[in-house]
Amino acid sequence: MSNLVGVRIHITGLVQGVGFRPFVYGLASREGLLGWVRNTSAGVDMELDGTPEAIKAFTRALREETPPLARIDRIQVEDLEPKGFTEFQIVHSQPLEGAFQPISPDVSICQDCERELQDTGDRRYRYPFINCTNCGPRFTIIKDIPYDRPKTTMAPFEMCPQCLEEYHDPLDRRFHAQPVACPACGPKIWLEMGQKKLAEAEDALQTTRQLLKEGKVVAIKGLGGFHLACDATRAASVIELRRRKFRVDKAFAVMMLNMEAIEKHCELSDWERQMICSYERPIVIVNRKQDSTIALEVAPGQDTLGVMLPYTPLHVLLLEQAEDFPEALVMTSGNLCEEPIATDNEDARIRLAPLADAYLMHDRGIWIRCDDSVVRVFKDDVYPLRRSRGYAPYPVFLHREAIPLLAVGAELKNTFCLTRGRYAFLSQHIGDLENYETMVSFEDSIEHLENLFRVSPQAIAYDLHPNYLATRYALERSEKEGLPAIGVQHHHAHVAACMVEHGMDANAPVIGVSFDGTGYGDDGAIWGGEFLLSTYQGYERLYHLSYIPLPGGEKAVREPWRLALAWLSTVGVELEDLPSMADYRDSEKAEIVLQQIEKSINSPLTSSMGRLFDAAAALCGIRYVVNYEAQAAIEFEALVDPDERQDYLFEFGDGIVDPSSCLKSLVKDVQHGVPETKIAARFHNGLTRMVVEVCKDIRSTRGVDEVVLSGGVWQNMVLLCNTVEDLTREGFSVYVHREVPANDGGISLGQALVAMAHLGA
Ligand code: ZN
Ligand code: ZN
Ligand code: FE
Repeated sequence: MSNLVGVRIHITGLVQGVGFRPFVYGLASREGLLGWVRNTSAGVDMELDGTPEAIKAFTRALREETPPLARIDRIQVEDLEPKGFTEFQIVHSQPLEGAFQPISPDVSICQDCERELQDTGDRRYRYPFINCTNCGPRFTIIKDIPYDRPKTTMAPFEMCPQCLEEYHDPLDRRFHAQPVACPACGPKIWLEMGQKKLAEAEDALQTTRQLLKEGKVVAIKGLGGFHLACDATRAASVIELRRRKFRVDKAFAVMMLNMEAIEKHCELSDWERQMICSYERPIVIVNRKQDSTIALEVAPGQDTLGVMLPYTPLHVLLLEQAEDFPEALVMTSGNLCEEPIATDNEDARIRLAPLADAYLMHDRGIWIRCDDSVVRVFKDDVYPLRRSRGYAPYPVFLHREAIPLLAVGAELKNTFCLTRGRYAFLSQHIGDLENYETMVSFEDSIEHLENLFRVSPQAIAYDLHPNYLATRYALERSEKEGLPAIGVQHHHAHVAACMVEHGMDANAPVIGVSFDGTGYGDDGAIWGGEFLLSTYQGYERLYHLSYIPLPGGEKAVREPWRLALAWLSTVGVELEDLPSMADYRDSEKAEIVLQQIEKSINSPLTSSMGRLFDAAAALCGIRYVVNYEAQAAIEFEALVDPDERQDYLFEFGDGIVDPSSCLKSLVKDVQHGVPETKIAARFHNGLTRMVVEVCKDIRSTRGVDEVVLSGGVWQNMVLLCNTVEDLTREGFSVYVHREVPANDGGISLGQALVAMAHLGA
């Protein structure tokens, strides 16, 4: 045994709660290595004795055969004298003060568990909380680290002898699976109606299905919160749900049992199939088939549907195939309007009372709320729209060491970001910080994540908008704790977020094309149609859409017809001459708005691209008033005729991009009765051409050919697709978001990196 050597190996990354130690145990046995492995608060540690060949094979296998949910960031190997171990053991966890590591997101049910769920001989047959080391709840049940059962909401459930045995057997799929449970010892479901328990267990499930079949709305407690569910193929139910939720038009997500069902209703690409089946199980926005029987009221005015597969055992059982059971269920977050999703049983009973006919409850606690994620597929890769369940709180990797700081994000679709080491931990989707409940959720989540990742921020980054609640939180806290606070311009943050994702160099400037709805500018105007020559450190505003008054301020965001009037007076067309806006002719409201514009009363200036879309859609008569953010733009996009080649001209020079001639041509087309599909296409084509021309102009003067596309307008797939293609054809390197949303959900990541550059870190 003279050729024995010893090693100590330390692994960091997502290596706990994902079956990593059993994997190491199996590998060590295979290679004939002796020693031990253990979890620490900073990762996984092991010491091994063996032949050099065996150790080499072992370390290679660590990387090559990593369990599906584990992600290794770093393997450090240190040579030791052999210790003379006589067996291989999994030893007790070692807590380290102040240490931290990534925490696994919640993971959808795995195939093994799904098989057992359907197996009449299995002791977890039809048990709605079946899980293992490869699947189940994680982030939403963890109260503190290290990730062990007593520090999760599973603590009150004492394991039965059988579960305990599986839990302690290194060769079992449930070895150290913290949420492990069975019908004898684990959480239970029941159905409630009018504060009364109607049924339990299988009965509760079947009665729920009966109610859904009858068209009722049922609140269903899931992984990260409650859903409101109803039959998606029954228009009356969907309309009723909209009425109760005060949600007029914004699309609902739909859950279907399997791919076969989804293919029946949707047109899918291979990549979309892959995304839908991925273990993150996000809602994927895909094209709806013309003959789909899903009610049009699910996504009014859109040619797409947001679909997802069941991701918990409870969902699998709930959607089970039966001849008369609906093929698709609306599964929308259990909340009223823009409040945070309900997570607590008592809270749900109160807040969802006006919305739900019944509740399918369970007694496994949700420690932190987490909404469903939403993605699209763009050019064979994921394009995130909302990064939450399944992704959060998995970090975005940084290409250098970060100082610990907190970036609070923006107002809408808020997320915040904590940095430490080479990680940027983005929070789950918090929502629109416009009401008290969401603000509480924001503050609670910050506290929770700072504790989980042991981050004590040394600085706070915030949006320049003085009235954002997140901004106020940042300023108050920085004052209280004596921390530097760094204001970051909204669109600069958008661009920086996309730069981070692509690991771009700190000093090389890029052309940041930041198009979105609202963002506070350096000059106090509302920006949103910006060409920013950016580094992390700073930016130069090279071009922007010409300023236009926003008559009525915030009101104009909800009422695009106001923007249409603002543009009509700018390009000198009379309201009388535009048939599509006949409704507003001789109207008193229009008169007041025209006065506002003329006298600049309550009419802040804006260069917002989102508002230009609003104006264009209203001028065409497509939508005068919106019921949710960006509705006009979304409906305008849906109209585009892909075969149309003409475009409207945008002029630019002296730092200004002027849409006047574009809108003049658009108005002329409306007057001549050109079909909306062609008008929408010409508008989109014109925008693409403008972006390419302006980028070429910047390249010729500044020599920069890397273009970053960020901001909510880039959720417009027609615009994104055409612009990326045309820019690429012109020789630009084009970068789009792949890890965080192009919308304000990605802002906090950019803020963090800009702030870090300011601090010289
Ligand atoms: Zn499993
Ligand atoms: Zn049990
Ligand atoms: Fe934005």
